[in-house]
Amino acid sequence: STRIDIVGVTKTYDGNTRAVDAVDMSIREGEFFSLLGPSGCGKTTTLRMIAGFETPTEGVIEVGGVDVTHVPAHKRDMGMVFQNYALFPHRTVGENVAFGLRMRGMERTTIARKVADALAQVELVGYEDRRPGQLSGGQQQRVALARAIVIEPRVLLCDEPLGALDKKLRQAMQFELKQLQRKLGLTMVFVTHDQEEALAMSDRIAVMNAGKVEQIGAPSDIYDRP
Ligand code: ADP
Ligand code: ADP
Repeated sequence: STRIDIVGVTKTYDGNTRAVDAVDMSIREGEFFSLLGPSGCGKTTTLRMIAGFETPTEGVIEVGGVDVTHVPAHKRDMGMVFQNYALFPHRTVGENVAFGLRMRGMERTTIARKVADALAQVELVGYEDRRPGQLSGGQQQRVALARAIVIEPRVLLCDEPLGALDKKLRQAMQFELKQLQRKLGLTMVFVTHDQEEALAMSDRIAVMNAGKVEQIGAPSDIYDRP
């Protein structure tokens, strides 16, 4: 399973900043789960600990019952998408998407097929040979999404992935991302500071403030409270 259990997790930087403060929550398999709150409340730190990039100071994070810090990086079944796309500017779209597959030492023909499939999923068929700089912001974010899903992860971690896009495009991409998450059956952890976005996309939302989870529930629960 890809259920994510966050159990008594605290992350302290420099011995005093409590970026994440005694958080307990579980993210269900296949749900679209958002971490919502203002800048500095601990969303990214939580996401990075789920990814295994950071180790909790206290507590444990398990994916499918296994402590993420005990799983080697290349065996973690997770894709990541960031706000700034983090594409390699001098590489083609195809090379950018192929990156994770090359790292896994896959055969050239298998890579080509998987890259084409991933680009089809994000509606960028035929863009293999372009460079990121020749694409719009929305297209670049689709390339970043293709690069994340090409390894066929069961968990997708997104850090403000639509934050750099203008409002109209952002709404279109919200819809596309939600559809893709459903279609692929991904367990989604989605970081945003935009309440409207979290309400529109999520099955459940954790509202964070100053390192703590203040509310957790379906959009209707969150919305109803003052
Ligand atoms: P958010 O994603 O909600 O904006 P972050 O998780 O990035 O919040 O940050 C939470 C708090 O932890 C902030 O006070 C931030 O400055 C601090 N912080 C985050 N990463 C580090 C780090 N690597 N070193 C020191 N402090 C950090
Ligand atoms: P966000 O967009 O979530 O607010 P930031 O731009 O604050 O993220 O942080 C970007 C990166 O810098 C993250 O990897 C975070 O862990 C790190 N970081 C954030 N705050 C600090 C800090 N005070 N000291 C060192 N690193 C930090």
